[in-house]
Amino acid sequence: MRLVVVGAHCGDAEIQAGAIAHKYAKAGHEVTFVHLTAGEKGNPPDVSVEEYRVQKIRESEKVAEVLGVSTITLDYKDAELTLDDEIVTRVATLMRKLKPNVVITHWEHSIHPDHVLCAKIVQAAQLKAGLPGFDLDGLPAHYYSYYHSENWEDMEEYVPDVFVDVSDEFETYLKALSEYWFIMNSKSFRYYDYYKALGTVRGCVNRTKYAQTLKFPIGTNVRKGGSIPGYEIK
Ligand SMILES: [Zn+2]
Repeated sequence: MRLVVVGAHCGDAEIQAGAIAHKYAKAGHEVTFVHLTAGEKGNPPDVSVEEYRVQKIRESEKVAEVLGVSTITLDYKDAELTLDDEIVTRVATLMRKLKPNVVITHWEHSIHPDHVLCAKIVQAAQLKAGLPGFDLDGLPAHYYSYYHSENWEDMEEYVPDVFVDVSDEFETYLKALSEYWFIMNSKSFRYYDYYKALGTVRGCVNRTKYAQTLKFPIGTNVRKGGSIPGYEIK
């Protein structure tokens, strides 16, 4: 299968689904991280925004190497994302190229506007990539399903639907995360401590050592039919 994780900033895809990504990459599946922006405006005091952009992309490449996945950083600007036809077309075209079976992205509610927009862009691109009526560089239409995953900034009303055992991948996940300066050194949030603790807590509930979680988009957990799912009356 092909898995694509789309995050607003370099680091989001990794923290949200890095261990799941590593699990599928190890098993021989094709996994790609797509970062809409580098997240360059969280720059350290002595590093310019432009220098930090270069640094974050370099860090994202190291993280991808540790996790055994591919990574793409688009050139949109941090904290300046907009939901318009240009970005939807660009992401839809990229999805027709990558042909994911499954996409993972941000939850719909967030304290960061870029995260909210990223989830909306993935949803709009799903429709555009899937409709044959859109000619996108002559590429065949491709429809993907998508899930949301956990980010400390996106926790309002986030209740997990799916727990994935990542016990065998978690040490590599933490090692990969430590390649990011902001995860180890941010003064505004204790990233490393939070995500180590989160994987542990989700693992407790999953009855495994560690776990990462996913959530269905609103409405897609609805089942329609003639019987109770799993108890069909012929
Ligand atoms: Zn972010």
